[in-house]
Amino acid sequence: MDNFDLRGGVLHAEDVALPAIADAVGTPVYVYSTATLERHVRVFRDAIAGLGNGDPLVAFAVKANPNRAVLATLARAGMGADVVSGGELYRALHAGMRPADVVFSGVGKTADEMAQGLSAGIGQFNIESEPELDMLSAVASAMGKVAQIAIRVNPDVIAGTHAKISTGGKENKFGIGYDAAPAAYAHAASLPGLKVRGVAVHIGSQLTDLAPLEAAFGRVGALIATLRGQGHAITHADLGGGLGVPYEPGKPLPPTPADYGAMVARATAGWDTRLMFEPGRLIVANAGILLSRVIRVKQGASAPFVIVDAAMNDLLRPSLYDAWHDIRAVAPTGETVPANIVGPVCETGDTFALGRAMDVVAADDLVAFMTAGAYGATMASTYNSRALVPEVLVSGDAFAVVRERPPIEALADADRLPPWL
Ligand SMILES: *Cc1c(COP(=O)(O)O)cnc(C)c1O
Repeated sequence: MDNFDLRGGVLHAEDVALPAIADAVGTPVYVYSTATLERHVRVFRDAIAGLGNGDPLVAFAVKANPNRAVLATLARAGMGADVVSGGELYRALHAGMRPADVVFSGVGKTADEMAQGLSAGIGQFNIESEPELDMLSAVASAMGKVAQIAIRVNPDVIAGTHAKISTGGKENKFGIGYDAAPAAYAHAASLPGLKVRGVAVHIGSQLTDLAPLEAAFGRVGALIATLRGQGHAITHADLGGGLGVPYEPGKPLPPTPADYGAMVARATAGWDTRLMFEPGRLIVANAGILLSRVIRVKQGASAPFVIVDAAMNDLLRPSLYDAWHDIRAVAPTGETVPANIVGPVCETGDTFALGRAMDVVAADDLVAFMTAGAYGATMASTYNSRALVPEVLVSGDAFAVVRERPPIEALADADRLPPWL
């Protein structure tokens, strides 16, 4: 469900016609819907309401969309944040997320980043290795603080998603091996700067089947019992994110948040912990589109090349993950034709779709890449010396630029010549 609909033959974001945004801000530009963001938070919260002890914490995975206006919208809707860097921590706190509702994840936290999290008083660090336990304890002790932690365990389940977004297999850089977990907990409990409070798991992203998640949660439940038997007070269980969203029309739909909630209820019955969740994509993917203009249409050997002004530097997912994004004309004629949709970047990988049945478009027409709110703008770069793509947030009939398009001169002029040139 989203709030991008045709009205009078023109695609709108809520009550704003997309051509109005293209005229005001230029293209390419990301456009987000406040109503869709709020709706997704509500649907997810409803799906897990009443599960576990107390109110579940829903910590938005900031890496999916770190724009401050998006984070502020989610903070107002009651979300916390799952961050993986000092930069994301800064963004979450400045967007109004409560420190106690912030979880710090990631395999490579530096001592500086740990100190930032401790100074801010964040709720939990998710620890991914024994050396990281030692470092966090040392940093916390030096500051006269105690860090609340969970250990991210690797449940060794196959998530059945794209290899580049699968994180729960044995030979993966994430988490501590399931069999090694009890020893890691014993070590953590012996360190002065740490307070062990939970178990964390996250097996991958864009999961379209609940079975791997349920298997992972089953293993977490067994581990909680083992750890309690060894004297650890496990009061929190962080179940990660990963629920998939529909990208391609006509494909089987991923499980709904309600299906997911019912599975979590089954899997966590009797755990006696507060539950924490880290959804990213589920909250923002369908709340955003990438709006782009057709530069020209070039004849190809079998199908035309529609060359648009968005490129792989603006939306990397198709070239990184072979991802599908639905691509629609903003003012469709009703006619379709097989076409190749490509960007201007000098890489064959700068291809969004090949031989796809596509709305007929001509030079200067607008197109929308749907379901682009997650892992879109956040992965944008300036490759080919292209300006960083801007972002717009819509609410009802209002819209605002929430990240500007910096002038290309600012990028180029940041380079410096050494004294000998
Ligand atoms: C990326 C990530 C998430 C969010 O994943 P989604 O598929 O976007 O829900 C949650 N937790 C951790 C630790 C992550 O790395």
